[in-house]
Amino acid sequence: MFSKLIQNDFPLTEFTHKEGDLYKIVTTFGKTFELMYGYYEECDRHSPLVRSPVPIYPDFTKEPVYTDDGTPFVTMMQDVCPFYKGEKKRTPDSTCDECKYFKHGEDWFGICTCPKNKPSSD
Ligand code: SF4
Repeated sequence: MFSKLIQNDFPLTEFTHKEGDLYKIVTTFGKTFELMYGYYEECDRHSPLVRSPVPIYPDFTKEPVYTDDGTPFVTMMQDVCPFYKGEKKRTPDSTCDECKYFKHGEDWFGICTCPKNKPSSD
């Protein structure tokens, strides 16, 4: 009975993808991003908790990408910057999708419309 419960409620998924495989192509705000399977941290490769490579989203804080008009891309799950303005109080767990400057694109991508984050706003 217990094994049936596991099978029905917690099906064990067979992972068929490997590191470097294409997960998805996302086109949004005029740019195209190829998302591949991989590991965010080298230690994940050997972790028993990470059973398989995962889709890797860009880290725009390390490698910024801009729209043609110079607006920075962000992901929904990106840590907030000093210009965060949200309805919720800023916490260490706050993410860009909670900010009023976040404009959602496709998938987990968006752009930051904060004028202070445009490179020419110095
Ligand atoms: S959306 Fe822009 S202004 Fe808001 S927290 Fe993210 S980077 Fe900062």
